[in-house]
Amino acid sequence: MVSRRELFEKCRELIAQRDAETADFDTNCIFQDLLGEKNPMFAPKLPVPDDKAQEILSLAQRRSEGYPLQYLLGQWEFWGCNFKIGEGVLIPRPDTETLVEQVLDICRREKMTTPKIADLCSGSGCIAAALKKELPRADVYAVELSDKALPYLRQNMELNGCDVHIIKGDVLECSTADKLTELDILVSNPPYLTARDMTELQTEVRHEPESALFGGEDGLDFYRAMTSLWKSSIKTGGFIAYEFGMGQHDDVKAILEENGFTDVELRRDGGGIIRTAAAVKAVSR
Ligand code: GLN
Repeated sequence: MVSRRELFEKCRELIAQRDAETADFDTNCIFQDLLGEKNPMFAPKLPVPDDKAQEILSLAQRRSEGYPLQYLLGQWEFWGCNFKIGEGVLIPRPDTETLVEQVLDICRREKMTTPKIADLCSGSGCIAAALKKELPRADVYAVELSDKALPYLRQNMELNGCDVHIIKGDVLECSTADKLTELDILVSNPPYLTARDMTELQTEVRHEPESALFGGEDGLDFYRAMTSLWKSSIKTGGFIAYEFGMGQHDDVKAILEENGFTDVELRRDGGGIIRTAAAVKAVSR
């Protein structure tokens, strides 16, 4: 039997062939997951049973081939909560916490304690769950179309104890928008990668669902269609909040303004990239 230390080194070296910077972190995550311990390397001399060592090595091997760590682990943290994930659902990213923060700031500022919120293209449900956690009296709806994503969405709401209404539907169809009215806040992290982005994806991202990534030729299809289709589902004085990709802020702002939204507030993510926009639905003239 190999010791934890020996196995750790072997895995680290394997993963480092792909990404030296994350090799330590990734190996530690794999060890934590498969050994079921928070700090597995506190006991480096402990032997690892052969079958366990094989399992660990095969995960390290897949990771070294560019398979996402998050899918290997089958879960990932967002907003301090755990979300089950796997192929078929977008991996929650820290950038998206900026969107959650922006919505929460709006609720605080506007003194909304029981807002009606819809999260469109909900995927794993990380945005909807984080909002429900922070605003327990909010009425939160999560809209998702993908049959592959929906089981994760349901499971994640249950695991996190979030009483969120799940709606299966295409956010680009009137019949879906008609199901929700008088929203205080519409929030979404829709697919926003451009046709060009799709040809330059990192190996890891290629494993994620195209339907959660590709936003049409210029990446803006969903912003154009959703804003125009859903604006009548939002209350006058209600808000819309979007995440988007690097460099898309001017276009998203223009789309919001063309649809009668005002006071567009842009926000930067932790990496300094302008990542989100929120705007208010003005009184129609
Ligand atoms: N943030 C993802 C990426 O950079 C894209 C997700 C999305 O299109 N909403 O790959």
